[in-house]
Amino acid sequence: MLMRAAIASPALFQRLTDDVVASGDETTAVPTPSTGEVLHELPRSSADDVREAVARARLAQLAWARAGFAERRRVLLAAHDLILERRELLLDLVQLESGKTRGQAFEEVFQAAGVTRYNALTARRVLGGRRKRSGLPTVFTTRMRFRPKGVAGVITPWNWALSLAAMDVVPALAAGCAVVQKADDQGALSILALRRAFIDAGVPEALWAVVTGPAAEVGEALTDEADYICFTGSTATGRKIAEKAGRRLVGASLELGGKNALLVLDDVDPAQAAESAAHAAFSTMGQLCVSIERIYVDQKVAAPFQRALIGSLREAKLGSALEYDADFGSLATAAQLERVEAHLADAVAKGATVLVGGRHRPDLGPWFFEPTVLTGVTPDMKVYAEETFGAIASLYLVGGDDEAVLAANASDYGLNAAVFTRSAGRARRIADALEAGSVNINEGYRGSFSSVAAPMGGIKQSGLGRRNGEAGLLRFVDPVTVSSTTGLLQLPRTAAEYTTKVGLMVLLARVLKAIRRA
Ligand code: NAD
Repeated sequence: MLMRAAIASPALFQRLTDDVVASGDETTAVPTPSTGEVLHELPRSSADDVREAVARARLAQLAWARAGFAERRRVLLAAHDLILERRELLLDLVQLESGKTRGQAFEEVFQAAGVTRYNALTARRVLGGRRKRSGLPTVFTTRMRFRPKGVAGVITPWNWALSLAAMDVVPALAAGCAVVQKADDQGALSILALRRAFIDAGVPEALWAVVTGPAAEVGEALTDEADYICFTGSTATGRKIAEKAGRRLVGASLELGGKNALLVLDDVDPAQAAESAAHAAFSTMGQLCVSIERIYVDQKVAAPFQRALIGSLREAKLGSALEYDADFGSLATAAQLERVEAHLADAVAKGATVLVGGRHRPDLGPWFFEPTVLTGVTPDMKVYAEETFGAIASLYLVGGDDEAVLAANASDYGLNAAVFTRSAGRARRIADALEAGSVNINEGYRGSFSSVAAPMGGIKQSGLGRRNGEAGLLRFVDPVTVSSTTGLLQLPRTAAEYTTKVGLMVLLARVLKAIRRA
């Protein structure tokens, strides 16, 4: 039940989807997870539409790059305000497309605003031209500047469509690039409404184009055309994108999967730790790259922690009402339900125990599934090492901090990790030892995820490159060094000149080292 009339309506869907670059008449029926019914018909782009969008974006980018940092900052800050003003609409769309709760949809909208503010206010400091120390003082002066790469191809998944789009699109725009984005069909409406806020704030229409449709045609065409590729999705697809980008010698940032571990140390308040663990694992029903799927709890606090976790999840309310009502929402698609059920059946058949949850809830909506915690998980089960990406977390008992760290690091993935403890010292030591791109202390993922001034990304099979922070902006530019002679001194060119000047130059090198000049 949706509970109250959504702001979003079929007429609005039509206006938003008119913005998809799609020249044909073909559409895709996109269902809503709250009922399984068709939400809207999404136009389908073709490879030709992608090429057309890239060509138009290339032209628009020239003027956008020339407009300069101050103008781009003005436009992006206006978009920031529109995101906040239009939040009720954005929340409706995110919920209707993903099945998540309003609270979890709000995390997305808040993140999109934060990313926009950060990049608007930071781009000039990070990407402005600057003087650099010359290799031969008094002979040369050297400056560097950053040239926007051109058209960034942004490929995003369905799970956090709005905020993941913002995390790649906004820094690209702030850096002076254009964007052609391939949105997953299940998240396209949210992205189109977000884009509208930017267009209404002054971003030229062609500068941010959205294409949709089959990955094999549309995603591949974009990977063939873009000057840089930002990919968020599974490790398997990330590997294909990296191969293609490698062949074309264009850069790519790859934000991939995770099998994120939470370490619960022996000094926690078990009830508080359990409440936070439940959110860390099941916010958006585990369909977030940085969600927790493995919980390593010290055996000294295991019994009360386990009791509190079961209690907290049993009491939690499931639903998809368009208001701040439920604690956890639905899985997003039928395929997600299938995957979760397959992982659970495999684990139970091989001897795992369901501590809490484990049930499909068609009474609430077609793809609702109870947040599920397993114990007795062994390496032969899929849930042990494979990313489930939905509704299942495994609980393991450990005999101390070292054992917990070793177990957490025994994964091919390295995206996010969390430590729950009252000791700042132990938390820091463990954070240093964990193999992950982010570590959160006494929180599952929101500390690092919301810190958009700090880099985000994975190690091992979880990705390459970083989004957010300075690194997130630097992805979209090529540094260019411009050096000129001062005319005060002439460097040697002929053998005779070298004979007389080599000694002086060696002396210069020694002096520079002595005065610690790099
Ligand atoms: P996916 O790899 O199947 O698809 C992601 C996007 O890539 C979709 O838009 C899809 O249409 C497109 N795509 C698929 N094949 C392509 C190809 N050959 N060329 C170009 N584009 C192609 O992933 P998914 O199932 O949609 O998303 C879930 C995965 O994403 C999980 O593994 C999750 O961990 C990961 N993820 C990672 C992050 C992160 O920041 N690290 C964030 C969210 C999701």
